[in-house]
Amino acid sequence: ESALYIVPTPIGNMQDITLRAIEVLKNATLIAAEDTRHSKLLLDHIGVKGTRMISCHDHNEEQRVEIIKNEIEKGGAVALISDAGTPLISDPGYRVVSLCAKQNVKVVPLPGPCAAITALEMAGLPTDSFLFAGFLPVKDKELREKISTLTANSVTTVFYEAPRRVKNTAKVMAEIIPEHDICVCRELTKAFESAYRMKVKELPSFLEEDENRTRGEFVLVVGPAPTKESEEVDEKVVVALKKLIETS
Ligand code: SAM
Repeated sequence: ESALYIVPTPIGNMQDITLRAIEVLKNATLIAAEDTRHSKLLLDHIGVKGTRMISCHDHNEEQRVEIIKNEIEKGGAVALISDAGTPLISDPGYRVVSLCAKQNVKVVPLPGPCAAITALEMAGLPTDSFLFAGFLPVKDKELREKISTLTANSVTTVFYEAPRRVKNTAKVMAEIIPEHDICVCRELTKAFESAYRMKVKELPSFLEEDENRTRGEFVLVVGPAPTKESEEVDEKVVVALKKLIETS
């Protein structure tokens, strides 16, 4: 059917592409990709060859809308993909969808791989309510502001982070939110997939101990702000344990 299809692609494990995503990509008359060269590898893998492709990234999204709209109006099907995971989620696509929707172009979203959701599946932190915060700012002042405002809520917060910045982010978080729980999800769906669960204050030295721990791709999942109550319970447990040790 003629429409703009939003198609998630794997975040590391090729097996994670859905049957529906393969079908949509096979039937597409035009594929709009964040990086056409990068996406050719995936398309080759699933046997999609020769489909017309255009690039669609942060710097040309708006111009691309015209081409996409024309293709759909003449009966074509357009698939939008990004380098990995779900388009629009810390990836290009939002402006295309917004402009297409305004011009009554049919938009069909497909569910599929997304690093944020995969990390929540792994972290073991509350998932009843969470905030997706995307990438943190690079500048120190903004970084600190963002960390303190975003994590002040009683919900879990999910951050994307680049490997070259993860140590610094850990250090800053340890200053601002030392008692929060964190799960660092590394290399999700890949060979070296790992979860590092601890208090934020323990993270900087943990990362320093072994340089492999800062290699690859990361999602940082920060638990809700610890409540007074939970801190009091922790203190009571410590007191009780000390007594037990003294009397044994
Ligand atoms: N659209 C993608 C999605 O749905 O997750 C996210 C794209 S964003 C440009 C890339 C960031 O996502 C990485 O810097 C990392 O924080 C996170 N990410 C992507 N793949 C990952 C993986 N396999 N393991 C851990 N984090 C990943």
